[in-house]
Amino acid sequence: MKIYIIPIGDVEKKTLLKLSWVLREKFEAVFEVGEPLPLLEDAYRPLRGQYFATPILEELKQNIPEEADKVLGVLDVDIFVPALNFIFGQADLGRNAALISLTRLREEFYGNSKNEKIFFYRVVKESVHELGHTFGLRHCDNPKCVMRFSNDIRDTDIKGADFCEQCREKLEIKLR
Ligand SMILES: [Zn+2]
Ligand SMILES: [Zn+2]
Repeated sequence: MKIYIIPIGDVEKKTLLKLSWVLREKFEAVFEVGEPLPLLEDAYRPLRGQYFATPILEELKQNIPEEADKVLGVLDVDIFVPALNFIFGQADLGRNAALISLTRLREEFYGNSKNEKIFFYRVVKESVHELGHTFGLRHCDNPKCVMRFSNDIRDTDIKGADFCEQCREKLEIKLR
């Protein structure tokens, strides 16, 4: 299993490299940071000041490297889907592409001072969560499980970066 992390637009490479190391352990898959894709400016909605995630995910799906089984796109702009004010990420259930946004994972977004450790832990959780969806996992009721839905950043902070026992079992069937 080979999973590519694809920067979309301007994203700090250091974070992506670190992320690839951590994800390797969690999924027992090979992770690589791929070539960046340009950010789809057509997805920008000026009235909301946000990017519509669905066409960006579609664009990512059109650009999956041949040698990749799955891709995780990483953006650093605020994203939404029409039913929600914002989303931390989006994925195709049981398919090969997911994306996350870094923007709302930073303490600075909430008016707090920068904290690299908190930021990176959140990046890991949201990445594991969205990739979990690509392996067919749905939202989990266990508040500590990484597959718990995050309505806001407090939910992200409450949950852990790992799968609960039930979700882990489902994942292992897919990884086999
Ligand atoms: Zn989810
Ligand atoms: Zn779970």
